This record gives sequence, C-alpha cells and structure tokens, in this order.
Amino acid sequence: MSQSTLIVAKFGGTSVANFDAMNRSADVVLADSNVRLVVLSASAGITNLLVSLAEGQQPEQRAAMLDEIRHIQYAIIDRLQHGDIIREEIDRMLDNVAMLSEGAALATSTALTDELVSHGELMSTLLFVEVLRERHVASEWFDVRKVIRTNDRFGRAEPDMAALTSLVDQQLKPRLRDALVITQGFIGSESKGRTTTLGRGGSDYSAALLGEALQAQRIDIWTDVPGIYTTDPRVVPSAKRIDEITFEEAAEMATFGAKVLHPATLLPAVRSDIPVFVGSSKDPAAGGTIVCNQSENPPLFRALALRRKQTLLTLHSLNMLHARGFLVEVFTILARHDISVDLITTSEVSIALTLDTTGSTSTGGSLLTQALLTELSSLCRVEVEENLALVAIIGNKLSQACGVGKEVFGVLEPFNLRLICYGASSYNLCFLVPGGDAEQVVRTLHQNLFE
Ligand code: ASP
Ligand code: MG
Repeated sequence: MSQSTLIVAKFGGTSVANFDAMNRSADVVLADSNVRLVVLSASAGITNLLVSLAEGQQPEQRAAMLDEIRHIQYAIIDRLQHGDIIREEIDRMLDNVAMLSEGAALATSTALTDELVSHGELMSTLLFVEVLRERHVASEWFDVRKVIRTNDRFGRAEPDMAALTSLVDQQLKPRLRDALVITQGFIGSESKGRTTTLGRGGSDYSAALLGEALQAQRIDIWTDVPGIYTTDPRVVPSAKRIDEITFEEAAEMATFGAKVLHPATLLPAVRSDIPVFVGSSKDPAAGGTIVCNQSENPPLFRALALRRKQTLLTLHSLNMLHARGFLVEVFTILARHDISVDLITTSEVSIALTLDTTGSTSTGGSLLTQALLTELSSLCRVEVEENLALVAIIGNKLSQACGVGKEVFGVLEPFNLRLICYGASSYNLCFLVPGGDAEQVVRTLHQNLFE
C-alpha cells in the first residue's frame, strides 16, 4: 500500500487541559492541512479522578470527585459562546460517570473500570469538536471504539491488528475524505462491544495504531515538552534536545522510563516505517524530535533514562548448582502469573531479576502478588528489595565499543550498583541503584557523558 500524505496528530492531557490549551492545539491542527485525524487524551487530571472513582469511593468522596471532574469540563464550556448544547451532552456523560461510580462502590471490576475511565476521552473529544466549530472549522466526532478492536484484557488490552485495519478501512477512511476527524486515544472495544483501555498513557499508542492502519505519512505526538531530551530536564536542567533519533533508541528510552512516549507507541511506527514527531503544543515554534528509521552518525551515548519504583527479586537455590531446568521452572511460574521479566542476571546458585512494569494496568495494581511469592518460595529462597531505580544508558553499538565500562562506572564510584546488565543489547546498558541515589547518579553520568 502506498503511503498517503495524511498526518495523525495526537494531543496529550495537558494539551487539552482547558479552553486556552484546546485552542492552542486547534492552532497546531489547522497549521498543517495534512492533519486529517486528531487523537485526544482526556483533559489533564480527569483520568486520575476516574480511576479513583472506579476503585469504589464512599458517597461523600464520590460527590467531591465528580464535582472536580465537572469543574474541569465546565471551565471549558463556560468559555464557549454557545455552550448549552454541549453542556447537555457533557451532563449526560457525567450522569453516566455518577451511575458507574456508584456501581464501582458496590463491586469493582476491570471491565467496569474501563467503561468508567473511557468517559475522559469521550468528553475531551466532544469539547474539542465544539471549540473547532466555534472557530468555523468543520470537524466530525468519531467514536474510536468502532475501529480499535482489542482482546478483553481490560486495563491493558492488546489490539487485534487485522480486525483494526479492516475496520479502519470501512469506517474511518471514508470519513477522512470529507472532514477533519476528532477521536479518542486510550480506549477501544473487545469483540462483544465492551469498552477496553490500552493502559495508562495509551493515547500515543492509539495514534500510532491508527497511523499504521491508515499508512500515514507521519504521526505527530503533541505534549508539554518540545521533544525528546538527553535526559529528563526536570532532573538535569542542562539536558539537550535530540533533533533526530532512531526508532530503536527511542523505543529503548520509552521502555526504560523516559516519559515522553508510551513504550508501545513505536511498535506500529517501526513495523510500517512511519516517522514520529514529538513536540510541545505550548510552543510549536520550538520544533521537536523526529523519530525515524535512520539518523546521521548515531552517537555512542545518546541518552539517559530513569525508571523508579523497581522491585528486585533474588532467587537463591542450592539445587541450582550443576542442575538443569531451574530457570525453566522459575519462568514457567512467572509466565503463569502473566509477568514479563525486565532485567536478569544469574550466578551458579541464584538469579536476580526485575519485573517489567511497562504499560502497567490502568488501575496500577502491583505485579508482585502474594500468590506469586508463595509459589516461588516453594521452589527457592526469595529475597525482595523494593524502592530501587533503574538507570539506562541508551546508545549505539555499546557492546562493540571499548572502554564503555570505564567511562560509565569510573564516575559512579560513590554509589552502590545493585545489578548491571550489559551486552545483550547493543542499544543499552542498565543498572539498578537505591531509589534515593537515582537523581544524583543521572546527574553525574549526564555531566560526564553528555556535557
Ligand atoms: N488519559 C489516559 C491516561 O491518563 C490516556 C493518555 O493520556 O494517554 O492514562
Ligand atoms: Mg496522558
């Protein structure tokens, strides 16, 4: 299929947080006539409130949270010239939210949670269409659940690409010919029509999935930072913007905690070789980062990522000495508990590993359950260490270069490194440090590798 000129633009929660932010985002959309499909997150703060409601709240708290949601959305309506009709629609949504929240207070379920939290994106998209309408821009609201078909793993659903592609062809493509289409990120539906979500921060992923199905020219991710940086500028103010970065490098960064992109976002883009742009809707003139197939002279060290709240499991078994099959048993148990492992190191009598928390469920439940610990303990002695941080150095051909170890670890002398993974990937070198040291480690490394 030949690529079209179409651009899919996604705006995050802060880009649709209020009336002014929505208007700035509308400016960005209108500045490029190739932008035909707009994917939105919920207004900032709304999803968190909806998740809390879905956990089941006492009537008083429930009322307070509903008020807060209403307040955020009404503040947008109040700035519209003719807000009456849209206010009725938002009120209907809020009634639904109230009813579902009451249900959640009696019995929570993951399916109910997804139904409830989907209202954030449903409301932001309705409001955005209205903002455009008052600016005399014709646009059409589209319920993305008609095309984002997923499995029924509520809270962290996975897309069914074949179904999604054919639904996009039938239902979405024809509309894009005549109108600018505004739709929701984050949400989808399973085969019985029940609402699902792709995991927190999943709107980026939605945009990429739609971009792939439409063979878009580019996927634009508009957020509140003008691109991808050598590390989080809040931790290291001297961090530099990266103008161009490869899919592999950006995917490593996202997986290892750089908050700019949802980790799954780049999968569809890589599969179909669609460049992804990341920029700030607050300051579009500042430009941003292009993530694409190739970049000129990729450097040895590209960026530093930091992921907090890591749990390290160390499994000790004397039976492992000269034994066969211990790893198989451990991994079978982990797989049965639906856990994917992130980092791993082994010795003759023990294994140390961290749990993969990428794309955690919408409710943010802990992966390390009592049931899992009990089962592992029947096999070996289990040690659990919490509150560690994972520092990842992202780069190119790291495992082929000489002196990497000295350059990195030479400056980290004052710190206790709990685990080091190097060699499996030529794009990263990662290690764990105590949570309290993480920022200092990142600052020290940034200064030595990037300044
Ligand atoms: N609104 C959802 C969340 O807060 C999805 C997103 O923002 O991408 O997780
Ligand atoms: Mg978001």
